[in-house]
Amino acid sequence: MTTTATTVATHWIDGQWVDSEEHRDSVNPATGETIGTYAMGTQAEAQQAIDAAKRSFRESTWRTDRALRARVLNRMAERFEQRTDDLVEILGLENGKVHEQGALEVAFAPETLRFNAALALTDVGTNSVVTEGELSMVVRQPVGVAGIIAPWNSPVALGIRSLGPALAAGCTAVLNLPTQTAQTNALTAEVVGGTEELPPGVVNVITGGHVSGDVLVRSPDVPTISFTGSTKTGALIGATAAQGWKRVGLELGGKTPMILFGDADLDQALPIVVSALIVFSGQFCMTGSRLLVHERIADEVRSKLGELLEAVKVGPAADPESEMGPIISRRDVERIDGAVNDAIARGAHVIVRGGPATEGSLAAGNFYRPTLLEVSDNSLSIVQEEVFGPVLTMQTFSTEAEAIALANDSIYGLSASVFTRDVDVSLRVALGLEAGSVWVNDWARLHDQFEEGGFKASGVGRMRGFAVIDDFIEFKHIRLNPGVTPTA
Ligand code: NAD
Repeated sequence: MTTTATTVATHWIDGQWVDSEEHRDSVNPATGETIGTYAMGTQAEAQQAIDAAKRSFRESTWRTDRALRARVLNRMAERFEQRTDDLVEILGLENGKVHEQGALEVAFAPETLRFNAALALTDVGTNSVVTEGELSMVVRQPVGVAGIIAPWNSPVALGIRSLGPALAAGCTAVLNLPTQTAQTNALTAEVVGGTEELPPGVVNVITGGHVSGDVLVRSPDVPTISFTGSTKTGALIGATAAQGWKRVGLELGGKTPMILFGDADLDQALPIVVSALIVFSGQFCMTGSRLLVHERIADEVRSKLGELLEAVKVGPAADPESEMGPIISRRDVERIDGAVNDAIARGAHVIVRGGPATEGSLAAGNFYRPTLLEVSDNSLSIVQEEVFGPVLTMQTFSTEAEAIALANDSIYGLSASVFTRDVDVSLRVALGLEAGSVWVNDWARLHDQFEEGGFKASGVGRMRGFAVIDDFIEFKHIRLNPGVTPTA
């Protein structure tokens, strides 16, 4: 059945809106109100999208015409800029992001697309006369259909983070975007799908969960999977993909340490620590969730940080005063609070209790106030497991080596922050941390020209940077043996 996306948020497959049998409600997490309905993707839509992407890869000029790919990516970037306000608005309604944070997410899309437009034009390969008369060359070819799976916490930025390089490489793509952001997905599909010169079937966008996602992971017609989501799901996907000899790029969970040395400028550092906790309501893979503080400044940090966290204005995106929006679902509020209660029962000391906001109009939504717990046992679940909410643990250390050891005592290794005025310390610690991104006196600063990704259980492969394209290309070595030209 074909329809328009105006009444029900539907899928974008082969250049058309496609409906599903089942419709579900999209809910505003700040109020519990229904804001629309969406078509729930199943195996059928996933297969239809794969078929379209496969046909388009074979029959269109997409994989061979890099000038076309660069033009389309640049034009797509402009279209995102033109629709920024609409995207920020729908992210606020459906995902709960306050407008400033929604704008932060949407701004990534055009930057990423333009970087990838440039990458599409740098397909240079390598060649060499290995020994006289023998010429070797490596050409880079797109792998085919890319399966892209992105989570609800930043569907626009993360969907485009994988789609940009897939398209730059010459792949066609199926994006499986999450049900929690179906309205945002449909608008994203409209922006992407309406790009002039984009051949039908090159980009297909479906809203679905693990059922449609699993079709991508198992399909023999999808040779690469670019997944962003939890470590648990990433491990499942990696295991399934291995059975089909697929390559996988996995961008997974994190437990970002924020290390405050005794000489840190606290007036500068503590507001950053607060942002690192409250941006996207702590539902960010890079959420600063483990604060490691030199014992000399611990008292000052307890009192100043406590005040800053108490003052955070929690509220809906619709209120311009709000600094932190809701949690995605009521179930997640309960899960987060359960983790906090468990930590307290196991000896965590409460500095700021935070917790579910139950008063006035906030009671109808899924709000959770920032929470700060001091712990001394690094093995506690609250320190080791991703909470995915605005919950910060604080621990003290006395030496640089202890700080590094505490930070690295985690299965995760996505990112870390170091606050110090000593350049030598910052560099030594940055080199010693097991993390894919390290910020000195800052947090979550990402640039498309630099690689982003995780050590350990935080991922496999890299997004952004020049390495991003590797998930989407095959390197082919061709050796020519024209012989040695006889000399006269
Ligand atoms: P999730 O792993 O539960 O689900 C992510 C998506 O995967 C879902 O929307 C669903 O469509 C799909 N999916 C689920 N099970 C699947 C399966 N078996 N096969 C195929 N597809 C499947 O993650 P979530 O709760 O939606 O997102 C939050 C997680 O994502 C957190 O752990 C967070 O740290 C992580 N994350 C990582 C990054 C990063 O760049 N490293 C960025 C954002 C979020």
